[in-house]
Amino acid sequence: MSKPTLSVVVPLYNEEESVTHLHSAIHEALDPSDINYEILFVDDGSKDSTVEVCKNIAASDPRLRLVQFRRNYGQTPAMAAGIDNAVGEVIVTMDGDLQNDPSDIPMMLAKLNEGYDIVVGWRHNRQDKLITRKIPSMIANRLIGKVTGVPIKDNGCSLKVYRAEIMKEMPFYNEMHRFIPALLSVSGTRVAEVKVKHHARQFGESKYGLSRVGKVLLDLLTIKTILSVASHPISWFSKLASVPLIFSLICGMCITNQILDGENIVVSSTLALIFLSLGLFTISLGFLCELIYQKGNLKIDQLALLTARTKLDPPSTDLKVQSNN
Ligand code: UDP
Ligand code: MG
Repeated sequence: MSKPTLSVVVPLYNEEESVTHLHSAIHEALDPSDINYEILFVDDGSKDSTVEVCKNIAASDPRLRLVQFRRNYGQTPAMAAGIDNAVGEVIVTMDGDLQNDPSDIPMMLAKLNEGYDIVVGWRHNRQDKLITRKIPSMIANRLIGKVTGVPIKDNGCSLKVYRAEIMKEMPFYNEMHRFIPALLSVSGTRVAEVKVKHHARQFGESKYGLSRVGKVLLDLLTIKTILSVASHPISWFSKLASVPLIFSLICGMCITNQILDGENIVVSSTLALIFLSLGLFTISLGFLCELIYQKGNLKIDQLALLTARTKLDPPSTDLKVQSNN
């Protein structure tokens, strides 16, 4: 079999009843086209028979590959492992519980071919619970839009199509798969958002509860810090340190006056010392962040090099989000 040009990556955690249907649906969606594709099912340490079902299907389908985790690591690591193993130039990610519909893939590929780097699905008619899902997600999408400046309507939709060269370099952790389009905004990546179908879960149960809200908020804080502080941590922290340092200077002047007037300097010298320590502590935090940033694998300027388009022909830094509604 020649090298596939498209890789469909699906994380699976206890999805034994959905896998066979999903596998058929992917073939039904992609077989009519002449795309050479592969399917990567990533088993995220399932405790049911997901692995056995996948192995049975793989025995008669050379297009299917199974990546297996020894234990449950979570949806983002599973997605990252699939992307890492994918050989296609274009990668599709989607959920394995039949909530996303593979029949949307050809339409998303056509959109990508219009010249985009990422096509993001928007579950405009989402079939999930209102209170525990739709409302928190609506608030999260608004917040993510505000923080990143990228007004994507549905960051949480797993059905996305990417150019592989972008994804292979992408740092992934926690629930970060939600922020990929927003993170890439700094590189001038062209993102399109298209309406996709969404179905209610037929089998098994959702792996998430309301606790996800907290995790997403913490990740959002990290993203905000990365986007605003990361490129020059020391200068950002130095500005922050200037406030306590100015206060300590003012206290220092008070001490001089008090000494000249023969007054007690216990309070002012304690305050001066506290502000001075706070200032120095903040500056050392800046040095620490600078070191971590220099040694870490997340670099704002590297993100800017992620797209082939950026390498060949730098686009404007504004991210264009387009939707087909
Ligand atoms: N998933 C996973 N590891 C996990 C949790 C979920 O691989 O620890 C997979 C799950 O099997 C499904 C997808 O991620 O294919 C989305 O999970 P789920 O349907 O539970 O999320 P929801 O649709 O409720 O947001
Ligand atoms: Mg689901």
